[in-house]
Amino acid sequence: MDWIDIRSDTVTVPTPEMRKAMAEAEVGDDVFGEDPTINRLQELAAGMLGKEVGLFVTSGTMGNLLAVLTHCARGDETILGSQCHTYMYEAGGIASLGGVTPFVVPNQPDGTLSLKDVQDAIRPLDDHFPRTRLVLMENTHNRCGGVPLGVQYTRSLADLAHNNGLGLHLDGARIFNAAAAYEINVADLTGPVDSVTFCLSKGLCAPVGSVLCGSSDFIREARRIRKQLGGGMRQAGVIAAAGIIALEKMSGRLAEDHIRAKRLADGLAAAGGMVLDPGSPHTNMVFANLEEHVQVGAMQIVEMFKQRGILAHETGLRRFRFVIHYWVDDLAVNKIIQAWQDIYQEIK
Ligand SMILES: *Cc1c(COP(=O)(O)O)cnc(C)c1O
Repeated sequence: MDWIDIRSDTVTVPTPEMRKAMAEAEVGDDVFGEDPTINRLQELAAGMLGKEVGLFVTSGTMGNLLAVLTHCARGDETILGSQCHTYMYEAGGIASLGGVTPFVVPNQPDGTLSLKDVQDAIRPLDDHFPRTRLVLMENTHNRCGGVPLGVQYTRSLADLAHNNGLGLHLDGARIFNAAAAYEINVADLTGPVDSVTFCLSKGLCAPVGSVLCGSSDFIREARRIRKQLGGGMRQAGVIAAAGIIALEKMSGRLAEDHIRAKRLADGLAAAGGMVLDPGSPHTNMVFANLEEHVQVGAMQIVEMFKQRGILAHETGLRRFRFVIHYWVDDLAVNKIIQAWQDIYQEIK
């Protein structure tokens, strides 16, 4: 069966062009810095994001961990959002592996941290306190609805961080989706931050990998810590080759996913039974809750979608997140809407 999989954009598989590039990739020992394909990917990524140097890493989680461990020493503190991926979904790595204390401030519904909350979270010099070193932001913000955060906000947060001697790291797992949403260059969103991680393996369709970008001094240290964590890979040009195509061919097409996400949202809303989050979708993710009168829970509805060839994912007892990506075309969107119409007829 050809499943329509809208659980996440992490499910994207490489395109035929990526497979071909992977098979033909020139490789070398990247721990020696001698893999030409990885070097090309890193230069391309840094260039697009307006940073000096890029570092190919195994995952977004590793990129964020390396960033925090490079900005902070053991016993230091980083300010981050209550809903952010690094706090929620990275297995506590910054604390357990880095000895870095998270100072959690609430994410606003629009994915931002209030500048006042951040200002108030900065510790004064005092022997009692950990040292604040870093602020961490996420763009697009996954748990806040895949919402993009703008240039102005990014600059304000960077100014606040820098005026207090702090670094600003951006978890930009889907930063290209944010750039597509604002129709701007990704460098406009990454320019103000000191370091940024983005994922090649989500909407950009590469099978594996993320890139951490920053200044050459910063990346030199991050590279050392990558080795320490066992992330020094050898002939990984075979996977980096797909990353190059991800940047060259896929980063410019994400607006298509956003248009399809909107069409899916409109279709679901028209069918009834689901209430979209206000403003959803902001990018490639549709968030919706079941209407109150619906008697059947989200898990059961996921099963009903599955019987119709659709893999969906519930994010709460009555809540869904549907994610559009390269492998979900217009026909697939029609099928999802049709499936929901049928399911809703059956259960209402
Ligand atoms: C996916 C994701 C990451 C990194 O996840 P990996 O699975 O480790 O690549 C980081 N931040 C956000 C917001 C994400 O969605």
